[in-house]
Amino acid sequence: MDFSLSCKDYNEKILEFHGIFNYSCPHCGSIRRWSRHGTYDRYLIIIESGLLILESLHILRLLCKSCDHTHAILPRECVPYFIYGVSVITEILADYYAEGTPKKPAQHSGISWQCLYSFISRFLMSLHSLEMALREISYIKPPGTLYSILKLIKEHPDVYYHYFKSTKKILFMSRANAPPIHGGTDWKWRIHPPTRHLK
Ligand SMILES: [Zn+2]
Repeated sequence: MDFSLSCKDYNEKILEFHGIFNYSCPHCGSIRRWSRHGTYDRYLIIIESGLLILESLHILRLLCKSCDHTHAILPRECVPYFIYGVSVITEILADYYAEGTPKKPAQHSGISWQCLYSFISRFLMSLHSLEMALREISYIKPPGTLYSILKLIKEHPDVYYHYFKSTKKILFMSRANAPPIHGGTDWKWRIHPPTRHLK
């Protein structure tokens, strides 16, 4: 996961980039020891001007030449194992909570109730940690309304990273799909901080 990377920049900054990737290996810590290791296709639903758009992304895998582990580079909009991107979830929920009283999802959005409930559940599950992360970066002073929190996430994509930094979890990722970071699965190697910001 590269939190500095948007899916709009993915082709230019990742797929068409043939220099040396400035990432450190989340497994062994080696820096800039990468070789390209193929791509796979991944769908992502994003929202633009109120419209849902299905994007097909080619995701690049990198192989660490020091430890032989592979890592996929995911843009910050992706929620692992979920087709809806962070922007859709925040936009739909902000609309849902906007008037204080939850209302039906916008008919035109094409989002089902089942999907909406899934968004709500992911949001409420992350709420406590999210509020703490937002306070750490001084975006909100308590108490924030659910709407104000969602609005902040919409306006500040860096919140995704701050949430990860303070919880070691990906925002809106379902608990069912989130093995513990130290669970011994290869899941943990898919996540790394925005190493473009390496000191
Ligand atoms: Zn490595």
